[in-house]
Amino acid sequence: MIRIGLDIGGTGIQIGAVDEDNRIIAKSSIPTRIDLPFEDQVEQMVSCIRQLLNPAKNPALSLENVISIGAGIPGIASKEGVVINCTNLNWDYAPLRQAFQKRINKPFFVDNDANVAALAESIAGVSAGTSSSVFITLGTGIGSGIIINNKIWNGHHGIGAELGHMILELDGIPCNCGNSGCVEQYCSATAIIRMARQQVLVHPESLILSLADGDASKINAKIIFDAVREGDDIAEKIFRKYVAYLSQTIAGVVNFIDPEIIILGGGVSKAGDLLLNALRVEFPKYVVYRDQKMPRLEIASLSSDAGIIGAAMLS
Ligand SMILES: [Zn+2]
Repeated sequence: MIRIGLDIGGTGIQIGAVDEDNRIIAKSSIPTRIDLPFEDQVEQMVSCIRQLLNPAKNPALSLENVISIGAGIPGIASKEGVVINCTNLNWDYAPLRQAFQKRINKPFFVDNDANVAALAESIAGVSAGTSSSVFITLGTGIGSGIIINNKIWNGHHGIGAELGHMILELDGIPCNCGNSGCVEQYCSATAIIRMARQQVLVHPESLILSLADGDASKINAKIIFDAVREGDDIAEKIFRKYVAYLSQTIAGVVNFIDPEIIILGGGVSKAGDLLLNALRVEFPKYVVYRDQKMPRLEIASLSSDAGIIGAAMLS
C-alpha cells in the first residue's frame, strides 16, 4: 500500500508516492501556476499524480493501492481540508479536499508545511521514537511545528505554532506580519544576511566581503559561516549575536513546552556542527531549570524529502 504526498510551495510542487516503510518510491514535480484558477491548479496536481501511478513501471503504483493523499502548504488549513490562507499561492478559503476528492476519491488531508516536516521527522527522521518534538525551519522566514503525543499540535483554531512571529524585541525590526521585532527578523537566513550586510559597510576588510567577490548583495548564510570557520572577527561577532537570538528563542520553547527534542531545518541548519555546538552551549543559559536535563537539539535528517514524506503521513 502507498500514500501520496504533495509538498506545495510558492514556486514548485513536489509529488511523491511513499511506501509503508516511509520511503519515496516514485517522485515528480510541477511548477506552481498561481496564474491559473484554483480548480485548474488542482487539475494539474491530479494529472501529475495519475502519471506517477504507473503500475506498468512498478505494480505497487496503482490507484487501488493508494491509502490516502496529503498536502503540505505554506499557509493554514482547517481540519475540514479548506486552505484558509496561503499568501504564496493566492488561496483564500480554498476547498482543497473537496477539489481533490471530486477527482480522486481517497481520504485527503492538508496541513501547514512546517507541521508536515515536523511530523515526517518524528516518524522517519531524527526525532523518530520521540513523542514530543518541536521543529524549527531557519530559511528565508521561520517555520515551526509542534508534535505532542505523536500528533501535530497546531492549536484549537489551527493558527498556532508560529514561533517565527513571537516577539523577541520590543519595537524591533518591522515584520511582514505587521508587527515588529518578531523572531523571524533575528533568526532567519534573511536576518543573518542583513546583519552581515550592515557590518561589511563599516568593516569592508571582513573576509565575508571577499568571499562574496566584494559584492555585499552576494552575501548568503553559507559565506558567513565559512568566514566564521576561517576565523574572521566580524563574522564571529555576527555569528555570536545570531546564536544569542536563536538560543533565546530555543530556550523559550524549552521553558514553555519542554519537548524531548528540538530539530533545526532549513538553509541555515546546513551550518551543521558549527551552529549546533554553539547553540548547545548557549541555549541552556536561558532555560529556567538549567540544572535539569535539557531537550536534545539536532539537525533535521530528511532534507527536502520531508515535505513529501510528512504530507503522505497526514491522517
Ligand atoms: Zn512577524
